[in-house]
Amino acid sequence: MYQLDLSRHYAGKILLRQEILLDEDKLQQLLQKGNFQTIPSINKRNLKYQCERCGNHKQSLFANIPCYKCKSTHRYCRKCIDMGRVLECESMYVWTGEKPKWDHYENPCSWQGKLTIAQQKAANRMVEAIKQEEKELLIWAVCGAGKTEMLFPGITEALKQGKRICMATPRADVVRELLPRMQHAFEDVPIQALYGGSETKEGTAQFLIATTHQLLRYKDAFDLLVIDEVDAFPFHADQSLPYAANRAKKARSTTIYLTATPRKNHVRRMKRKNLPHVFVPIRFHGYPLPIPKKQISFSIKKDLEKNRVPKAFINWMNHRKVPDRQLLIFVPTIKLAKNMIAAFTKLLYSNGWIESENMIASVHADDEEREEKVQQFRNKETTVLVTTTILERGVTFPSVDVAILDAGHIVFDEAALVQIAGRAGRSVDDPTGEVIFFHDGKTNAMEMAIESIKAMNKRGGFSKA
Ligand SMILES: [Zn+2]
Repeated sequence: MYQLDLSRHYAGKILLRQEILLDEDKLQQLLQKGNFQTIPSINKRNLKYQCERCGNHKQSLFANIPCYKCKSTHRYCRKCIDMGRVLECESMYVWTGEKPKWDHYENPCSWQGKLTIAQQKAANRMVEAIKQEEKELLIWAVCGAGKTEMLFPGITEALKQGKRICMATPRADVVRELLPRMQHAFEDVPIQALYGGSETKEGTAQFLIATTHQLLRYKDAFDLLVIDEVDAFPFHADQSLPYAANRAKKARSTTIYLTATPRKNHVRRMKRKNLPHVFVPIRFHGYPLPIPKKQISFSIKKDLEKNRVPKAFINWMNHRKVPDRQLLIFVPTIKLAKNMIAAFTKLLYSNGWIESENMIASVHADDEEREEKVQQFRNKETTVLVTTTILERGVTFPSVDVAILDAGHIVFDEAALVQIAGRAGRSVDDPTGEVIFFHDGKTNAMEMAIESIKAMNKRGGFSKA
């Protein structure tokens, strides 16, 4: 491998020894020449251990294993073990040789579509931020605004300038959905996907699409970092991920945050005018967001406990405006997703609401067939999907109604409810859709979600929704 290839391969990463595909002599040579440097894997600061890859300093997340090299035991980090073991007695490596030269593309975008006025405005702002090397820009776009398309001009600009790009998103499902769309839009640009189960873990392309977790492998790597769904779990809940994102970008770089439901810290910064942002209040098809309806069902908790379908749900099914629309049924727990499927199947089939018992499925985070089931629903091979919050965001089905059972449950916070409601009415051919919250007492989250959807519609120019 030439020096240039090596730099493309290894620059911007924090590497374990086994991730460097060079023999020991070659590596030692490069270390002597100053092309690589070693860094300690686990540091001791103020008597506390810290993992230098994931930043973990929770002492209970360190453990010991016997070390084959020095015949004693050694500490390792349990927190980031799924990306290869960080062992105290083995250094990690960073590339300190020549900087990689990435390609400058003259005209990289092969997308033929046209942005709406609202999308174009956000896209222009993003291009400006990249040109000016502004540090941060938040794009607040309602569910269904078409934010992936909005990114195309910014990514085009970055590729023209020979920048290295990473689009990070919290969930592997979304990486899998984004990859073909980006490949289609940038046909001549090599793009790699990086997530827990991805085929390759190389992550050496100029343009990467990765789960936020995978950012832990990088340091000073990206000129443009796009963080999709910045408000979402686990980016929101796991401190190591903002730490990783911050480290993965270069000192001179632009970070674009995308969100439909910004969290308090970002709202506060926007209000104080120390976070530049652009708001996209209109869905790409120009119709307002569907406003969720609330339906009281006093027995709902007891019904679900006994795996019975609540009466209120059956009543609603009897009066659906478009009965043949596909239906997403959200339940609060994995257990319910598993246990309720039999009752739903029986009810829907016996009432003729599904053509056969195979037209309904359930899906949850631990489901091994999750990808296939989502794809089958997308292909309309099934018409009803019972799901947990795993499908609350990032996935697009053109034409669905959405029912949430036990919408007052703690897992359905304001952002989750807004996101779930945003699954409905996403296609220009069917821009409306019903969203219904079944509950046994309204919660703040429900009220606030409905208020915020109304407020977004108002900002989008829909005076009455
Ligand atoms: Zn770690």
